[in-house]
Amino acid sequence: MKQGLLIVVSGPSGTGKGTVCGELLACTPELAYSISATTREPREGEKDGENYYFITREQFEQEIAAGGFLEYANVYGNYYGTPLKKIEERLAAGQDILLEIDTQGALEVMKKCPEGIFIFLLPPSMQELERRIRGRGTESEESLQRRLSAARDEVELGRQYDYAVVNLSVKQAVKRIQGIILAEHSRTGRNEEAFEI
Ligand code: 5GP
Repeated sequence: MKQGLLIVVSGPSGTGKGTVCGELLACTPELAYSISATTREPREGEKDGENYYFITREQFEQEIAAGGFLEYANVYGNYYGTPLKKIEERLAAGQDILLEIDTQGALEVMKKCPEGIFIFLLPPSMQELERRIRGRGTESEESLQRRLSAARDEVELGRQYDYAVVNLSVKQAVKRIQGIILAEHSRTGRNEEAFEI
């Protein structure tokens, strides 16, 4: 059985990772989403087991101790982590998996799974990033400034990724990521059987 692809989409907060990944999943039925665990409170409309597994800090720390996460990070005061077991099972079954995680987590995954495909999503400009975070209306001014300052540092980390995609529009970004996935599936190293003719 051919192993599935581990596709990691990351980038600074406010770049539109969530929207792009949502649209990507909606129009790529063969791609499965890895639902993260988090200690943050659900936002309006978010559902447990769908957007995240909403768990307590205690549960999260138990899970860390048990080695249950592929990676985890503290993002703006809350824990976020990628459950390991499900991913391993699905990749082994040939399923492509999408992780939408922050840059700290993505760097962890790079170390542990160098065979993963790392896609960095960039905003078209810092001004646009600020406009998007403000437009979301979920952050206090202090939190917004914290996120913008972190984003400037995070952009530099993007150079370590395999691919850079500028989020000019959701449609375009989705198309590019789909293109990356198709190209990765066509790599000679992943198609040994195609040569047995
Ligand atoms: P939000 O609270 O807005 O849903 O997410 C905040 C940040 O946490 C986003 O950058 C999101 O990509 C990131 N995030 C979500 N799940 C995970 C995860 O499992 N691991 C890590 N490292 N970051 C995550």
